[in-house]
Amino acid sequence: MTEFDYYLAQFVDIHGRPKAKLVPGRHREMIFGAGAGFAGFAIAGMGLGPHGPEFMAVGDRDAIRPVAWMASTASVTCDGHVGGKPHALDPRVIAKKALADFRAATGLEFFSGLEPEFFLLKPGAAAGNWVVATESEALDKPCYDFRHLSSVSGFLMELQAALDGAGIDVYQIDHEDANGQFEMNFTYADGLRTADNLTYFKMAAQALARKHGMLCSFMPKPFAERSGSGLHMHMSAGRKIGDNAFADAQDPRGLELSPMAYHFLGGLVAHAQGLTAIAAPCVNSYKRLVKRGSRSGATWAPVSVAYGDNNRTAFVRIPAGRLELRVPDASSNPYLLTAAVIHAGLDGIARGLSPGEPCNENLYQLSATELGQKGIERLPSSLPEALDALDASEVLRRGLGAAFVDEFLNLKRAECDELLMHIPPAEFNRYVDFY
Ligand code: GLU
Ligand code: MG
Ligand code: MG
Repeated sequence: MTEFDYYLAQFVDIHGRPKAKLVPGRHREMIFGAGAGFAGFAIAGMGLGPHGPEFMAVGDRDAIRPVAWMASTASVTCDGHVGGKPHALDPRVIAKKALADFRAATGLEFFSGLEPEFFLLKPGAAAGNWVVATESEALDKPCYDFRHLSSVSGFLMELQAALDGAGIDVYQIDHEDANGQFEMNFTYADGLRTADNLTYFKMAAQALARKHGMLCSFMPKPFAERSGSGLHMHMSAGRKIGDNAFADAQDPRGLELSPMAYHFLGGLVAHAQGLTAIAAPCVNSYKRLVKRGSRSGATWAPVSVAYGDNNRTAFVRIPAGRLELRVPDASSNPYLLTAAVIHAGLDGIARGLSPGEPCNENLYQLSATELGQKGIERLPSSLPEALDALDASEVLRRGLGAAFVDEFLNLKRAECDELLMHIPPAEFNRYVDFY
């Protein structure tokens, strides 16, 4: 192992927000032994009281990588332990259990690729206000715009280099469909590595954006008239990278999916409602999952539980031989997302569920009646609705752990109470003197 002056004992809370202690190099073995100690009550979602035991972050020797923006520092991704055992509410522990369940059920590794979209913002004229960091001119179709890409290329290239140094292989970067919105794609890996990579990506993007005087925001829908930011999840399975047991060129439906992939997809469709609480877990997430609300003409975000060939209006798109789940946004915790998707998919495999027929129509244009005739459900339209579905899902409760699900529901319902009882200014202005 290369020597660094400092090691970050790093893990995430229930929101996927990175938490860490900085450990001078001479003490690093402590991270791999008993672990670095934290007051568990100070970490959201760990279910620990202020009088309870320490939360110990125990390092994974396979997840050590340089932190390019901090002098001679490496981050060590950790699992949460309490009382000498992996902690049932720690997101990385929850993901590892799901991946082990997948391995036990199929004899295969679960592979995923996450596609982060984000806004680059700068301080606006008014205090506390943020505006897009690229040229202010609002294009109707800014997707793939070169000028905007070029104007922040210094930041994007520095970020790519930091990721490269951490073994995260970026293969493309583009300006997305909203002004000031970007996407950076890196190669897929096993589900745990991808969740670690996404966490590292967010740490790097946010730290480097600050250095460039910008805010890198993963808020799902910051601007009403612009597409929101998704975190599409690509899924496949195999014995090793390169293998794909979800692919089958003989697929009679022509989507190049294997029977196992269809059953997994059947599980995603069957558990779509509860799964959405984990994949789109903040109040703002549901402002992204709409058909109208983008000046470009499409939000590109799903509103109904359909799958289709190259259908970017669907819950799951099928880019030949794999599944792209389009509902997640980057307010989701990548470890919990991975676990929830696996438990839903495994239930589909265990029960031989069918996802129904593919739909290649523009789903934004189908009425509720037309969707009903095709047997296509709507996605939850608010966080409280999604939370109720998670609450009622025996499969997700069993897979993720009842203690975790209860903690998640308590925390998220409090977030709903905090935000949804407000009357936003636009609503007040619309009605105060109208009726
Ligand atoms: N930004 C869109 C979303 O919210 C996705 C655009 C795309 O297809 O890449 O999901
Ligand atoms: Mg995109
Ligand atoms: Mg995508």
